[in-house]
Amino acid sequence: MNKRLYIETVGCQMNVLDSEMVVASLRKRGFELAGDLAGADVILFNTCSVREQAENKTYSALGRLRSFKKAHPEKIVGVMGCMAQKDQKLIFDRAPYVDLVVGPGQLARIPDLLESIAAGKGPQMAVSLGRKEGPVEEIKRSHETFDPLRDPTMRPTPSQAYLRIQIGCDKFCTYCIVPMTRGPEQGRPPEQILAEARILADQGCKEITLIGQTVNSYRYASGGRTTRLADLLHALSDIDGIQRLKFVTNYPKDMTDDLLLAVRDLPKCSPYLHVPAQSGSNDVLARMKRGYTVEDYCEMMGRIRATIPHAAVTSDFIVGFSGESEADFQKTYDLVAECRFKNSFIFKYSERPGTKGAELYPDDIPHEVKNRRNNELLALQNRISEQESQRFLGERVEVLVEGPSDRARHRGEEHGEVVQLTGRTHDDRIVVFDGNPRLVGEIIPIAIYDVSPHTLFGAVVTEHVSGAGLQPAFGIL
Ligand code: SAM
Ligand code: SF4
Repeated sequence: MNKRLYIETVGCQMNVLDSEMVVASLRKRGFELAGDLAGADVILFNTCSVREQAENKTYSALGRLRSFKKAHPEKIVGVMGCMAQKDQKLIFDRAPYVDLVVGPGQLARIPDLLESIAAGKGPQMAVSLGRKEGPVEEIKRSHETFDPLRDPTMRPTPSQAYLRIQIGCDKFCTYCIVPMTRGPEQGRPPEQILAEARILADQGCKEITLIGQTVNSYRYASGGRTTRLADLLHALSDIDGIQRLKFVTNYPKDMTDDLLLAVRDLPKCSPYLHVPAQSGSNDVLARMKRGYTVEDYCEMMGRIRATIPHAAVTSDFIVGFSGESEADFQKTYDLVAECRFKNSFIFKYSERPGTKGAELYPDDIPHEVKNRRNNELLALQNRISEQESQRFLGERVEVLVEGPSDRARHRGEEHGEVVQLTGRTHDDRIVVFDGNPRLVGEIIPIAIYDVSPHTLFGAVVTEHVSGAGLQPAFGIL
């Protein structure tokens, strides 16, 4: 088999990390990355099922491959990730030229399955057991965590990495397909997590983002001792080289005081908490089966603000869930106004076959209403984000430089002496400034002179030694 791989990834951080792992495992078998689809021997789509639109995009992309595959039957086309687990054989029905379907719990088998296909054994499929297809332990085993290797070249930037601490989800929010596609919640052993973090630090990684669907529900029991997220943060803080620790996504009910104290007391922990509320209406939250009330959420926000006053808190909301009245939506609007999130991701409800929501509740809010609510909430959040950003005018922030900004990349300017760079503050704010690309991977001071809702604009602070000692000055390094 010729070994050039093209991989296209959509969806959440889990998928980004899964792609990194699959690329690493295939490199071990001699694969190289192809820059585009046409130059590849194996084409993999890493897919998302959270909203229908994401699935439609993947099926359209597969549709566009039909004639390509006819002209090049030797090329292997594979679908991996949540849509592979959810749709399974249906993918072969809708796109009969697909050779490989692999769920997120079976990724370790991809290299062998590709060899079987190349050896002429026909299309291959590897999926995990459904949530009712056997004893829990067997189902858990069929959803294997796949974190054996790291491939630094596949990361968003070499100085930043995701580290999986938990797979699956047991919350079963009624709108959500994730518990079905990613299986039961399972925490990874702390020794494995710490060993991986040390490898990442040795590779030059400065910022680690711990990921899990409900990352703060993490627990691992062994030898009479239970390790929780706060314990992990303490242990990870001791690793030299790692300078920032973030974790996503948090579940409101599991935002315990020990975790907030860890974030407050460990300087490496970023004062940044993503805690999706989903709705501001108790009736909607109950139908979503989120397991908390608006009052619980506000109590949690109060504890966050009291413990870590400077923390940036972000949220997710779904508008147009089944039965959401204007009064329900108004309550969501009021919650956003009250909580003053740094940012919120707002989604229009998308009914997902296979969820309790699809079974129990009609998708009864018209598109126009979903759109309007989406726009109104977004406009409110943008106003709040802009006001919150204003606080940074004239301030100095420490930024981990990620690379050339989108503008520099689009204009092909990313290799100049001075280019527009982008990076993030400790509390996950995006900062754009001019500087030399050699600053990428460094944590540097930036003085902020302008803001927009989601971006701070600044200049590198250079230190001049003079008779009076160190004098800050603004300039381009
Ligand atoms: N585990 C995380 C949590 O509980 O917040 C997030 C998982 S999900 C991949 C990311 C976000 O997608 C959710 O927070 C929710 O707002 C949104 N989402 C999930 N299912 C959805 C659906 N059926 N329609 C619209 N948005 C959805
Ligand atoms: Fe989905 Fe709810 Fe689990 Fe998040 S907590 S992954 S929204 S079921």
